[in-house]
Amino acid sequence: MTHIYNFSAGPAVLPKEVLLQAQDEMLDWHGSGMSVMEMSHRGKEFLQIAHEAEADLRELLVIPSNYKVLFLQGGAHSQFAMIPLNLLHGKTSADYINTGIWSEKAITEAARFCDVNVSASSADRNFTYAPAQSEWHLNPDAAYVHYTSNETIGGVEMFWTPETGDVPLVADMSSHILSRPVDVSRYGLIYAGAQKNIGPAGLTIVIVREDLIGKARAGTPTMLDYKTHADNDSMYNTPPTYGIYIAGLVFKWLKAKGGLAEMEKTNILKAAVLYDYLDASDFYHSPIAVENRSRMNVPFTLKNAALDAAFLQQAGERGLLQLKGHKLVGGMRASIYNAMPVEGVQALVAFMREFERANA
Ligand SMILES: *Cc1c(COP(=O)(O)O)cnc(C)c1O
Repeated sequence: MTHIYNFSAGPAVLPKEVLLQAQDEMLDWHGSGMSVMEMSHRGKEFLQIAHEAEADLRELLVIPSNYKVLFLQGGAHSQFAMIPLNLLHGKTSADYINTGIWSEKAITEAARFCDVNVSASSADRNFTYAPAQSEWHLNPDAAYVHYTSNETIGGVEMFWTPETGDVPLVADMSSHILSRPVDVSRYGLIYAGAQKNIGPAGLTIVIVREDLIGKARAGTPTMLDYKTHADNDSMYNTPPTYGIYIAGLVFKWLKAKGGLAEMEKTNILKAAVLYDYLDASDFYHSPIAVENRSRMNVPFTLKNAALDAAFLQQAGERGLLQLKGHKLVGGMRASIYNAMPVEGVQALVAFMREFERANA
């Protein structure tokens, strides 16, 4: 059978070891006689799963004790609204950095609740780079500064942490969380949908500094108030239990791999294999500024777009799946999250080279 490598942007590939363990435990979790899907979220078995998942995530990201970790639902999209609802704290404006499609979605939603000051934007070059901090025009009275540290569709990643003084920094890390260490203490809030680099869709992780919680604006629905979830260990309502379980297995897998510093080394290597080839080839093209090239999502085009369909078809026959670019940008996109082995990227490059030779 052809070896399958899945380059989906999300829901995305999971570590094979994790899926095998989940398969093994599917009908009977640790002798409980139950599948994790069948357990009460308030029973001792699931509480152990949830506590371990949180402890392992805290260890991996070195999350300081004055931060809450929330296991929520509603995707990153719900955070686009929950952030202004919870973090405006009576202020009337927030700063947003616009680096692409996900930034724009966050901006559009925030504008329902406050004045959005777009402090910097890379729209001038079609979102192919991230503006340097020196180009940001931050408002010292902003309630918070929001940015998207990896634009999953555009393939633009920021590898530095912005400096915002006393104004809380908020990051959508949906598509690079756990791919490298980050200094959580520099952030007011970090959020991520699970389906890119953590686990199955349906789970959203929020890491929020405690002093920012508890000041939601009047009228905020109970379920959209961070305090509701912080006060109840993310068990105010039924949490996405199976998603938390799989995420917990992924956290253990990451720890066994040596943690985030080791993941970063592997991710740098994987990205280099693909970008080095793209740069050496006249047949393919990467549109992204070198210093902002995402290690997780690699968009590229064939210079002759008439060959796109043949490329995707032949890639599929080789077991290289889900390489079609997002409909808004076209071309190709290879997402190479933590669970994509180096061999997968090498197999992709080997195919690309062969396709180039046959079609150049
Ligand atoms: C996928 C993604 C989202 C949207 O996530 P949902 O779970 O579909 O709401 C938001 N931001 C980024 C950066 C993403 O990659």
